[in-house]
Amino acid sequence: MSVFDTLPPLRDVIADHGLRARKSMGQNFLLDLNLTSKIARQAGDLTGCDVLEIGPGPGGLTRGLLSEGARHVLAIEKDARCLPALAQVAAAYPERLTVLEGDALEIDPLVHLTPPIRVAANLPYNVGTELLVRWLTPKEWPPFWQSLTLMFQREVAERIVAAPGSKTYGRLAILAQWRSDARIVLQLPPEAFTPPPKVSSSVVHLTALAEPRFPADAQILSRVVAAAFNQRRKMLRAALKGVAPDIEDRLIAAGLKPTDRAEQVPLEGFCALARAVAQT
Ligand code: SAM
Repeated sequence: MSVFDTLPPLRDVIADHGLRARKSMGQNFLLDLNLTSKIARQAGDLTGCDVLEIGPGPGGLTRGLLSEGARHVLAIEKDARCLPALAQVAAAYPERLTVLEGDALEIDPLVHLTPPIRVAANLPYNVGTELLVRWLTPKEWPPFWQSLTLMFQREVAERIVAAPGSKTYGRLAILAQWRSDARIVLQLPPEAFTPPPKVSSSVVHLTALAEPRFPADAQILSRVVAAAFNQRRKMLRAALKGVAPDIEDRLIAAGLKPTDRAEQVPLEGFCALARAVAQT
């Protein structure tokens, strides 16, 4: 698809609605509709999908998602100042955009969505990381979403796709790669945003696997990995002391050396450890 809408350019939208970016809301807007459509295309074939968008702001990515053919977009925005601009987008795409005002960390969007569902967002990185971890760690799998297409600071994106042994390998890499295929699909310089942030950004696309790569309980795996990387460079037996009283035995049962360090342990090893801890 990719037919632009007849709405005003985003610079005019921002001026008309007085949407000066607020630092406190983590606002760095994308104003180039070619770019927002390109990001929307990274989300895969949107035709026939509901899309959950978090933090639509003045609506640049929202317009990209709709012009790329999303069946329906549910957008959750915390800043009430953006609602009139988003209402104009909703009017241009009758019955295809629903906007909820509120904090995405507190709203359950599922009642408003019909599968298949994809998620797309350009969010402040702290909110994005917290939502990503939630979306990756539900008790049951597969999750409500088919794919997540999310903008992060480049350094956070690198942590999501990192391999064992690399400097950025840690909790995010393990949780993401356990249950999804994660790839960096676009790199964006600071100047792509208004106002430009201090660092470069990357779009990460995660596709949910039908089954996790290795069996493990999500909560136990999260706990083990958080403890293991909380004290980087410590030996596993010291870093994981609080996880189970007999952690040394559990490490050996999982085929790991108590003297190993977290950054060397592959995903499979952490899943084996989560299973061994579950038997405590
Ligand atoms: N998607 C727009 C774009 O690409 O131009 C805006 C991106 S801006 C980086 C982040 C947006 O997320 C802002 O509109 C901000 O108000 C919104 N936001 C921040 N925290 C939020 C939260 N907890 N829940 C929902 N929206 C939030």
